[in-house]
Parts: sequence; structure tokens; C-alpha cells
Amino acid sequence: MAKIVLNKSNYFHNLKIISEKAGSIDKVAVVLKDNAYGHGILEIASLAKEFGITSAVVRTVQEAEQIETFFSQILILADTNISTYSHTFHIVINSLDEIQRLPENTNVHLKVDSGMHRNGITINSLEEAIYGIYKKKLNLTGILTHYRSSDELSCEFFWQRSVFRQIKYETKMICEKLFLPIPKFHSANSSALFKFKNFDEDLVRVGIASYGYIETNTIFKNPYFKPVMSLWAKKITTRNIKKNQKIGYGGLFLVKKDMKISTYNLGYGDGFLRIDDTKKYTTTKGYEILGKVSMDNISVNSTDDEICIFDDVRELAKLHNTITYEITTALSPNIPKEIR
Ligand SMILES: *Cc1c(COP(=O)(O)O)cnc(C)c1O
Repeated sequence: MAKIVLNKSNYFHNLKIISEKAGSIDKVAVVLKDNAYGHGILEIASLAKEFGITSAVVRTVQEAEQIETFFSQILILADTNISTYSHTFHIVINSLDEIQRLPENTNVHLKVDSGMHRNGITINSLEEAIYGIYKKKLNLTGILTHYRSSDELSCEFFWQRSVFRQIKYETKMICEKLFLPIPKFHSANSSALFKFKNFDEDLVRVGIASYGYIETNTIFKNPYFKPVMSLWAKKITTRNIKKNQKIGYGGLFLVKKDMKISTYNLGYGDGFLRIDDTKKYTTTKGYEILGKVSMDNISVNSTDDEICIFDDVRELAKLHNTITYEITTALSPNIPKEIR
């Protein structure tokens, strides 16, 4: 099996830029859902803690339990199957009926739909939701929303931001009426954070930028992030191939002149997607993946014992006509991780 190398100084470089933009390290919540976008949840959590980050975001309770001791606050985005109380966990409520299902004293962040129309309650039900939370004796610790086009150059982001401002205003009024403490407000993911001129919210939920990428069309210059993940494969065998022989399934790659090729221990079984027949992928060192990607191996025009498949995933994402998120997240959690 291949291995993933995590570059600690690059991760810290990204966290430093993010904390400075957020105004305080305590406002940064690192998003560790889906095995930290394929980087390894435990490895990234321990690095984030070492850097001084105190908040994290995950999808499920199971993920939160794995990293419970690393952070003082863990936001759980989409799991209301809560049976035991944890002081550290903050559960995101996406609909009115979820309020009834949570046990007393649970910390909750209420998600409000400001225009994405995916999850969250509508503004019109804000009062009903907060009153329901109060009656059910849950602790309202946060109010959040999510932008539908923070990565695009358009006025939609600013429109949604003004909707969220209204949500803030109304929440404050309702909380004052019920003598509830004012919750934390947060709306920004990576690309939204860098659209704020002066970031003035209580928390930012940052995923992709911390891993070294930001996918924003902007007229402003985005900061320079450094990719954290590199993917490596080990050699299985080397052989001499003669001109006109064909390599791999379907005999897709025709050898044009005698050459030495090796197989390496990485395939689609590890979440490394097959590459479209019409396209060509070359590694950082200029080696080419020859023919089809097999389940457990690839053929490459190299004899090195170990090769770096990528240390920046953007090229591969472009080749697959997708985004960086999908390539790293698809990698199998079983691939061993090494921090360097
Ligand atoms: C995944 C997610 C994020 C992180 O988004 P990035 O673009 O990776 O920074 C933030 N907020 C919510 C609600 C998410 O689901």
C-alpha cells in the first residue's frame, strides 16, 4: 500500500495565515470531517492541537469521539443521534424536529438557511426554534449559516451576508427577551473568510485552505497556501519492455521504444481514481502513469524505489475535471500516514 506524507511546516504555515486573517487563533475551527479530507483525522487533529487550535468541526459523533481530548469545542455538523452528554460537543440543529430529539443540557448551534436552501431552519422559524431550544433546556451556544457561492465572483455572497446580519439582529432580540446569553455567530468557510475585509465574526470553519488550497475566483489576491499532503508509492517490480509491447488492462499503452518500467503499490483500491484513457498524468518528477490504473497497482516509466505521485493535487483535479476536495477525500483511510 502507498503512503501519505503530511508536511507539518506547510500545515502550520496555512494555520498561521488563517489565524491572522481571523484575528485570533481562538476563532479558528479546523474542519476535520471525512477523515480530515483524506489527510487522517487523528494526525491532523494532533497537529492542530500542537499549533494551538482549540476548536474543530466534524460530521458525526463517531468522528467527534475520536478527537474529543484534542479540543475544547467540537462542532458536529450532521448527526443528532446523541445519547451521552459531552461538554465539548456542540450539535448543529438543521431542522425544527431535531430539537425534540436531543437530551437536556446538550450544547447546540442552530443552522439558519440564508439562501443556500440545503440545510437549516428558515428565518421565519427563528423565534419558534430558539423558544423550542429554551423549553427543551438545551444550551444555545451558536448560530450559523453557510454560503452557496463563497467561491465565486458574484454579489450573492454579499446578499447572503446581509441576510445573516438580519438573522443576528433577530437572534439578539429573541435572546434578550428570554434572558438567554447571546450565542456565537459564524458563517464563513475558507473562501468566505478571505472575502471579508475585516473579519468580525466569532468563529470561522476552515477546511480546504488549511490543507493548502483555496478555490476562489476573486479579483483580490488570495494568500499563498501550501499543500499539506503528498502521496507516495513503493516499487513492486521492474521489467524491460520491448518496442510494440502493450502494458496493463486492455493493452492500452503501446510501447514506442524499448524501455524499463516498474509497477508501484497504488491503485483505485486505495481511492486513487482511474485516469481517463484520453489523458496523461505525469508526476512531479516527470514520470508518467502508463495505461490503466489497476486496483492495486500502476505502471510507471521509472525504476526509483519510491515515487511521489503528487505533492500538489491541483493538476490531478484538473485532469479528473473535479475539485481538490474530491481527490484527497477519496483516498482510503487505510493508507498509512507519516508526518514530516
Ligand atoms: C465542509 C464545511 C466547511 C469547510 O469548507 P471549506 O471550503 O473546506 O473551508 C465549512 N462549513 C460547513 C458547514 C461545511 O460543511
